Amino acid sequence: MSLPTVAIVGRPNVGKSTIFNRIVGERLAIVEDVPGVTRDRLYGKGEWLNFEFNVIDTGGIEIGDEPLLEQVRQQAQIAIDEADVIIFVVNGREGLTPADQEVANYLYRTNKPVVVAVNKIDNAEMRQHLYEFYSLGLGEPVAVSGVHGTGFGDLLDETVKWFPKDGQTEYDDDVIKFCFIGRPNVGKSSLVNAILGEERVIVSEIAGTTRDAIDTPYTFEGQKFVIIDTAGMRKKGRIYEKTEKYAVLRALRAIDRSDVAVVVLNAEEGITEQDKKIAGYAHEAGKGIIIAVNKWDAIEKDDKTMNVFEKEIRSRFTFLDYAPAVFISAKTKQRVRTLIPLIRTVSENHAMRIRTNVLNEVVADATALNPPPGDAKGRLKILYATQVAVKPPTFVLFMNRPELFHFSYERYLENKIREAFGFVGTPIKIIARERK
Ligand code: GDP
Ligand code: GDP
Repeated sequence: MSLPTVAIVGRPNVGKSTIFNRIVGERLAIVEDVPGVTRDRLYGKGEWLNFEFNVIDTGGIEIGDEPLLEQVRQQAQIAIDEADVIIFVVNGREGLTPADQEVANYLYRTNKPVVVAVNKIDNAEMRQHLYEFYSLGLGEPVAVSGVHGTGFGDLLDETVKWFPKDGQTEYDDDVIKFCFIGRPNVGKSSLVNAILGEERVIVSEIAGTTRDAIDTPYTFEGQKFVIIDTAGMRKKGRIYEKTEKYAVLRALRAIDRSDVAVVVLNAEEGITEQDKKIAGYAHEAGKGIIIAVNKWDAIEKDDKTMNVFEKEIRSRFTFLDYAPAVFISAKTKQRVRTLIPLIRTVSENHAMRIRTNVLNEVVADATALNPPPGDAKGRLKILYATQVAVKPPTFVLFMNRPELFHFSYERYLENKIREAFGFVGTPIKIIARERK
């Protein structure tokens, strides 16, 4: 099920990112050891009461060379398009400005709920600044201080109360959900079209086009699939549609809702930092991953080109060594038909369960072949292994001294588990637990 989304809007310097950081909290500080993945601080998860939700700092999405006001307007539009609830931040110290009114004018056009957060109300005397913001006509403003962290209970109470009651589309467990992610113009929507065999995704701006058709169902050899977020691939003609940060945002939301993410690269352009970042998100989210090198028709090649490109992939995406790579063309449809069976395989691996006794045999063989490390106080002993979760497969290893279970040995065991069971395309997680 997809989480509700809250978007933060407002003109520059009102404190959007300060508020974003408060709501997202320490979660961002948990930096996973994924080489090359730097975090865009524009998207995170928040929690309040029993609700979990996504938060977008639209201020983090810079839109080309547009003038400031136009950027703010586009950011407001992103909030309107993407969010279930909008937090509109204004600066209580400066009072209501024409730029705030401009943003408000924009927000009036949506029927999405808007919560006005009057920021920089750092002490009780300053609360009197709250009142002029009633005139925005967007409901009762909430006083907060991003710097001091006050007022957030009220702000979040007011926000979560607007969350949609009936969760969005959920699919049956036997439906495989996948998405195409990648930078603008790598060919994501062309690939969807190539699979569907018709011009279904790229629709021009048609009046009345809504978010309804956000996912596209597809059946192949009796297996049901859903292609997630095909609406996000539509060319709506908005300026921000082609900005990379927005592409990242769409990718993040699509990844959240998918079992398998197909990371699309452009063969003509090679691998960029942005590709790494997008792939890194799918990896961190623990999704099944396939790397699809598209536009394979467009480059000059000989019998070595594919190997060279594959090597490049392996050296740039070291954290994705489990992800298969395919070289395809949406234009000529070369190898496009291999994609769906591969997505199915990866999805099965992502949901695979290993019987405990078989798992323990593999772990015992592995530790016999290459004994665990030790120190002066003795050796690490792995006592027992069991799979505790799927999607992705997650294993708990009980051991006498987890502090000796270093990355290299974990890596060794992971490889042995992969050798034994396959797991192509899916990350696997190993958790060390102490047991005397
Ligand atoms: P954004 O451009 O809207 O994302 O604004 P920032 O979050 O970057 O904040 C702009 C400036 O306002 C920074 O210098 C913040 O430290 C400051 N600021 C943010 N929240 C508060 C607050 O509650 N009180 C005060 N006094 N300053 C704040
Ligand atoms: P998206 O932004 O990732 O959805 O990319 P599009 O599907 O809109 O494709 C961007 C451009 O690349 C379009 O002009 C497509 O015609 C072109 N394109 C997509 N796939 C291929 C391909 O396999 N080969 C070639 N030569 N061009 C392609």
